[in-house]
Amino acid sequence: MVRTPDTFVTATEPFRFCPADGTALEEPRPSGSVRCPLCGRSWYRNSAPSVGAAIVQDGKVLVTVRAREPYKGQIDVPGGFLEIGEHPVDGLLREIREELGVEAEVEGAPILLHPHTYGPEGIYVLAIGFKARIVRGAPHPTDDVARVLWISAEEIDTTDFAWPHDRQFVRAALGE
Ligand SMILES: [Zn+2]
Repeated sequence: MVRTPDTFVTATEPFRFCPADGTALEEPRPSGSVRCPLCGRSWYRNSAPSVGAAIVQDGKVLVTVRAREPYKGQIDVPGGFLEIGEHPVDGLLREIREELGVEAEVEGAPILLHPHTYGPEGIYVLAIGFKARIVRGAPHPTDDVARVLWISAEEIDTTDFAWPHDRQFVRAALGE
């Protein structure tokens, strides 16, 4: 069968072949996990954790313009997907370093926990957001950031966020 975009299985369906060795997998268990008869590993479907920062300075919050698809040109916050085994705070500080070239620190516990889907494949993501501040350096866009903007509380509603939950996130960080 020729595969066209609408015949692709979605990101939410169980694996059918073992990602490690390509063996056809058994029927999914009620939990949604599937076991490989060759290597014995079980594969689960989970949301991928991502971390984001609402960096606040002088009553404004730093947002970024996305340089790449998906959502190219739309507004995002600094951050990204965690690496395997990485602590959310370490992952966030790494992403801030990569995207903005600055050292930052997070302030307290997460102020955003929001499951959502990402990109045309509808990958499930758990967004974890922290309020943060820059401790060293001046932010300059690198990596997958096209531009950096500082927005005030009055500009939040008219800003073209890629994800609506980031609007609530930056508003909470500004204490609105
Ligand atoms: Zn296997």
